[in-house]
Amino acid sequence: KVRVRFCPSPTGTPHVGMVRTALFNWAEARHTKGTFVFRIEDTDAARDSQESYEQIIEALRWLGLDWDEGIEVGGPDGPYRQSERTQIYKDVAAKLLEAGYAYESYSTSEEIEARNLAAGRPKAFGYDGYDRTLSEEQKQAFRDEGRKPALRIRMPEDDVAFDDLIRGEIVFKAGSVPDYVIVRPNGDPLYTLTNPVDDALMRINVVLRGEDLLSSTPRQIVLYRALIELGVAKEMPLFGHMPYVMGEGKKKLSKRDPESNLFLHRENGFIPEGLLNYLALLGWSIGPDRDVFSMQELAEHFDIRDVKANPAHFDIDKAIAINAEHIRLLDPADFLRRSIAYLHRDGTVSAPTWDDLTDRERTILEAAAPLIQPRVRLLGEVSGMAGSLLSTAEYIEPEPDARKQLKATAAEVLEKAIAALDEVPEDEWHGDSLHELLSKVLVEDGGYKPRLAFGPIRVAVSGRRVSPPLFESMEIIGKAVTLARLRGLQN
Ligand code: GLU
Repeated sequence: KVRVRFCPSPTGTPHVGMVRTALFNWAEARHTKGTFVFRIEDTDAARDSQESYEQIIEALRWLGLDWDEGIEVGGPDGPYRQSERTQIYKDVAAKLLEAGYAYESYSTSEEIEARNLAAGRPKAFGYDGYDRTLSEEQKQAFRDEGRKPALRIRMPEDDVAFDDLIRGEIVFKAGSVPDYVIVRPNGDPLYTLTNPVDDALMRINVVLRGEDLLSSTPRQIVLYRALIELGVAKEMPLFGHMPYVMGEGKKKLSKRDPESNLFLHRENGFIPEGLLNYLALLGWSIGPDRDVFSMQELAEHFDIRDVKANPAHFDIDKAIAINAEHIRLLDPADFLRRSIAYLHRDGTVSAPTWDDLTDRERTILEAAAPLIQPRVRLLGEVSGMAGSLLSTAEYIEPEPDARKQLKATAAEVLEKAIAALDEVPEDEWHGDSLHELLSKVLVEDGGYKPRLAFGPIRVAVSGRRVSPPLFESMEIIGKAVTLARLRGLQN
């Protein structure tokens, strides 16, 4: 039974690379009917923050990436926050030391550097294994100086190889990975220890993570072998390293890049379905010529072995286009409910939730939803579309690009439209008949091309170049407001 995990370090605001990692783990768990574990790796007090911790949880909850064991939900292997597991790491470190898989290392980084320099080794060589063979007397001498040891893992003398689920066989040559630190001299356990120890104790058997962590894998495999010998781990997990997410040009998408900021995407009006669908395409595909799918379909078809190793490109335009498809798929009532927070933020409605809106707002939004839903790509665009329908303003200042559309004939067109519309009885004020009437008066009889005929009316009614369908909009705002706006633009 597959057990996967998502185990971010809470060091910043959630980013798309992190979400893609969570998503692929989630999908692998759901596809295999396995278990998705969510753990937080907060062993770096200098970089971790409570704010980030809470944001990560909020992100998963908003996205609907549910987990089976871990933070907040609990489970048999808790606690799931590493800062609450210190004693566990101390105990395992002591066992590793006692059995000789780890050793005490007293060398300072200056001493290591000086030895490398003296031996003519390159600066990047790293730790030279000096403390591997210290005698008891030598160690005692260091202790007498007041030094405290770090703990290092003894790397083997041969190659370390494994079969990556995404990349196939990967070999790290003997000697290419130095003996590495698992516990700092001050006693702090490092990621190098806590991550594999928790994977072992939480019985994780498939480790799926970003390519940036590939260099940790030979270290973890060696540590895992020791943990198996010591009875702490049962079996070596499988590993899969997901491709980098690239941004503009040939650069990796950076965590600080606004395009990678999850909450910014939410503010702009991505919906979870749309964003996750797009992120799933960063390395995976459901089939040729098919981009849009539900989370359920993802879970049905996902297989980590189908993920491609080559870097994936984050293309915001494509992400937005996919989001638009998912917005269209929403049930109209759901679309409205999700839009309210954005409308309220933009000052377009009076309350942040559907139930607290006025009756008038609800009536207009229900009438407007079918006009708006197919025309927005992000929920942040709803305000622009709905604003002129919800407003009772008798004049709407046209946006600059809308004003530019007004040609010399605009004044006569408005004049003729006003005269004709003024005659329409209130109870015949319907989109279809208004369309018919204005087509007759302006296009057939007036001889204006449709764009010149309806352009100024659209600008008067909505203030925008792109708006919800014009005649339905006129029906929604009613006769009095329509005529007022046409006259307003005329003056
Ligand atoms: N805490 C690690 C990180 O956020 C997790 C790495 C892993 O998945 O092994 O980079």
